[in-house]
Amino acid sequence: MNTALYWFRSDLRLIDNPNFLSACKASDALLPIYVHAPQESLIWGFERISEHRQQFLCDALRDLQQQLEQLGSDLLELQVPQASSSGAVDLVVNLAHHLGIQTIYCEVIEAPEEMQALTALRQAGLTVHADLESTMIAMRDLPFAPDAMPDQFTQFRNKIEKAKYLFAEPVLAPSHIPPLPNDFKRSELISGVQTPIQPTGHPHSSFPHYLDAYRGGTSTAVAHLKQYLGRALPHSYKATRNQLHGLDYSSKLSPWLALGCISARSIMRELKQFESEQGANEGSYWLWFELLWRDYFRLLHLKYGKQLYCASGLNQSDKPIHNARGFEHWCSGTTGESIVDAGMRELKATGYLSNRLRQVVASYLIYDLHSDWRAGAAWFEAQLLDYDVYSNQGNWLYIAGRGTDPRGGRRFNPQKQAQDHDANGSYRALWLSD
Ligand code: FAD
Repeated sequence: MNTALYWFRSDLRLIDNPNFLSACKASDALLPIYVHAPQESLIWGFERISEHRQQFLCDALRDLQQQLEQLGSDLLELQVPQASSSGAVDLVVNLAHHLGIQTIYCEVIEAPEEMQALTALRQAGLTVHADLESTMIAMRDLPFAPDAMPDQFTQFRNKIEKAKYLFAEPVLAPSHIPPLPNDFKRSELISGVQTPIQPTGHPHSSFPHYLDAYRGGTSTAVAHLKQYLGRALPHSYKATRNQLHGLDYSSKLSPWLALGCISARSIMRELKQFESEQGANEGSYWLWFELLWRDYFRLLHLKYGKQLYCASGLNQSDKPIHNARGFEHWCSGTTGESIVDAGMRELKATGYLSNRLRQVVASYLIYDLHSDWRAGAAWFEAQLLDYDVYSNQGNWLYIAGRGTDPRGGRRFNPQKQAQDHDANGSYRALWLSD
């Protein structure tokens, strides 16, 4: 009898989830689990997950559980106790031992902490089946070996475009999920799992996750994509994507993508369908282009791994200095630079920030306040609804000039940015008036 655990990580979906499909095909009994492991950042001293993301995550898990229940299965949520020194891995190992399970399936997340978790499972004697499946282009279809990928984004994109392979076809959801293990008794195993949080949020949010249409889960992700395409918004995407505020200037798919409620492959298939019915233009192409950036940072992780997490990044430059007081002002939106303060207040109040302002505030922390880019990345991790380890680390390194930017970093002049993107001051008025 093949009994296995499926550990959902950042792949909270059944549609287009090859790892989950493999687990279903290979097992006679399967227990799907999710582990909550809230942590404080030991270096920077704040919680690593905000209430916004916690809320969105709870919604996504409820939605996943419903999908599993429809196929006769269930989702077991486990909670690492706050004060415990053990982490998610210990819980998974103990559960597997308790149920006499030897095999774990999950997705690969190619970042140091997440890879360490898989190593620890294997060291505990478990067999782990895991693949990296969160990219838009499948690993097998890359026109180069992952460790030979071009470092510069433009060269990377050119190779991909030349190969004319723009995304992998999504796989279907399983039609059947193996039953739960016989001796599984939920009541014996559940310990302190959080009850769903009553959704609250800021009325000016550009991603109002407290409204039904923006809550976590595959069903809302699919509905959101449908209405976005239905209103032909990809056609205007390139023209609007640098705006600072509103529901429609960009796709707003990132929070769902980050938790894996929907895959980039499923999004691309719908986008291609949209293009075949309503025409392709620069805007619809640009959405693919941005999703390719997402793949690029994933593949950079495959190539460089832990190096991306060193203080000096890839280029062996000096270690960053850290202005702790400047960092505090930055986090609380009290630097005195109006566009930066408005952005940082929006981020804290809502968990979301436009791409343009992410660039501006990151640049300000690094080049104007002379603070450690890793502190900024940690604050973004804590605050962002769409926190994605690859995209966050990759973008911060890029702006800090410690990654693969051929220009050696990006400094944005905050006053010029305010003039270009908030000429009438309405964005700043919105967030600085409180
Ligand atoms: P759209 O503009 O509609 O783009 C469509 C999709 O393309 C996005 O959902 C995202 O998956 C992808 N994408 C777009 N821009 C980028 C980019 N620069 N890098 C990687 N993928 C991109 N994005 C995250 O998803 N999680 C993060 O933790 C994250 N941290 C960031 C940190 C910094 C300092 C910066 C400058 C950018 C960061 N981004 C991150 C990238 C980008 O800002 C967001 O993906 C985007 O703003 C999300 O909104 P959207 O879904 O409407 O994006």
